[in-house]
Amino acid sequence: MDLIATHTNDVLKVLHHGLIVDRRITRRLKKRPLLNLARKMRAALPARLMRLLKLIGKMAEEKEFAAFVIGGFVRDLIMNVRNYDVDIVVEGNAIEFAKAFADRLKGSLVIHRKFGTATVVMPWGLGRNGRFKVDIATARRERYEFPAALPDVEFSSLRDDLYRRDFTINAMAIVLNSKNFGQLIDFFNGQRHLEEGVVSVLHKESFMDDPTRIFRAVRFEQRYGFKIDKPTENLIKKAIKKDMFGRTGNMRIRDELILILKEEDPMRAIRRMHQLDELRFIHPKIKMQEDLRSLFKSIKQTCRWYKKSQLKERSLDDWLMYLMALFENLDKKDAKAICNKFAFRRGDTMRIASYKEEGDRVLKFMSQKKKMPPSSVYKRLRPLSYEVILVLYAKADDRKIKSRIINFLLKSNDIKIKTTGDDLKRLGFKPGPALGKALKEILYAKIDDKIETRKDELSLAREMLK
Ligand code: ATP
Repeated sequence: MDLIATHTNDVLKVLHHGLIVDRRITRRLKKRPLLNLARKMRAALPARLMRLLKLIGKMAEEKEFAAFVIGGFVRDLIMNVRNYDVDIVVEGNAIEFAKAFADRLKGSLVIHRKFGTATVVMPWGLGRNGRFKVDIATARRERYEFPAALPDVEFSSLRDDLYRRDFTINAMAIVLNSKNFGQLIDFFNGQRHLEEGVVSVLHKESFMDDPTRIFRAVRFEQRYGFKIDKPTENLIKKAIKKDMFGRTGNMRIRDELILILKEEDPMRAIRRMHQLDELRFIHPKIKMQEDLRSLFKSIKQTCRWYKKSQLKERSLDDWLMYLMALFENLDKKDAKAICNKFAFRRGDTMRIASYKEEGDRVLKFMSQKKKMPPSSVYKRLRPLSYEVILVLYAKADDRKIKSRIINFLLKSNDIKIKTTGDDLKRLGFKPGPALGKALKEILYAKIDDKIETRKDELSLAREMLK
């Protein structure tokens, strides 16, 4: 890591242009060595993104205030990890600024008035982001009415904005104003903690203010192979003892859990959550056992296979598959209760419910030794989502079951017939269930390789009519 610091006070002038100049900022910055990341940014970022960041700096300057890119973007830039999630903080009115910015770049604007923030969505994409977006907020200070409440927003300075963030490594900013473009602002030792591989909160009330940070700490620790430092770990234990999760919005816990399950290797975080006794906040019956570990591993391999296969065009919610695995020891009732409590979306809840309802029965059916026509497998698997089918594949230890599932995914599920309902009506079928059933029978015959051409299909229909 290239963390050689350079001394400059120029950045202070930028801050003086801001709406609010906080004396503590200038005092602290004078003491702290500053690192300019402009060169690193030029090397790491696509030219288009670089131009966009410079434009933000220039536009802020025209309005005589400072603009910064902050949070995960800065952390990952220093760590040489690709991250194009651009969070901007301006020391002026974010919504006004976002409007002007959207106008200038012909982007669309989404305003979140309650939070005083806005998102500008560009008409173009970058990397995997189909439409590139920039989030813009006003540097703000938060007052907490009572622990774990949503923040009231109040205008304030950059330092206070960074102070309310979760961990030191996420609480750094980079100046975008052209004069000091690239200057790192690091009040809380984020840079040093990145070098040392430490996840540390900024103050001791952090988990009381927002208990979802307990999950976030584990996520960042495990993602980067860092270590939650001792004081932070003690604060986590204290918050868990005080049952702080009970005071948090369940939807926020759900979102953090989904983020954990979307990590490259979610089992690492789950294991750590078990160590810290956090899993019981999802459900007391979730246990960290060896078979859970091997199911996660198998799901990971299955997802990897899927993404290389011809099926990859259809997107897959890997995280939901891991959630199904996490619920492995729960009965259907408990699983549904969790989905309701944490307000999982309807489609997600339905997929979990169908896994719980059908999963074991389908596996048992497919484990039969006797020869099984592919249409029988088709009938069982077709109503299930890909996530459920692939978890069944990951869970099955019988090769026969695996090959039956693969045959369904790669072959049977793609087979279409040429005959239409109108064709059958012309043959004399009355509209109604019998016609639908005939179409299905034709499809099953084709899946089982009993017929091939349209002519075959029609003659089978004629036979059925008799
Ligand atoms: P990722 O790489 O997973 O997207 P990120 O750091 O960008 O990580 P986000 O959840 O997008 O994570 O949050 C962006 C920034 O907002 C964080 O870097 C952090 O500064 C701040 N943040 C997010 N959630 C919290 C929280 N619960 N408490 C305090 N600060 C938070």
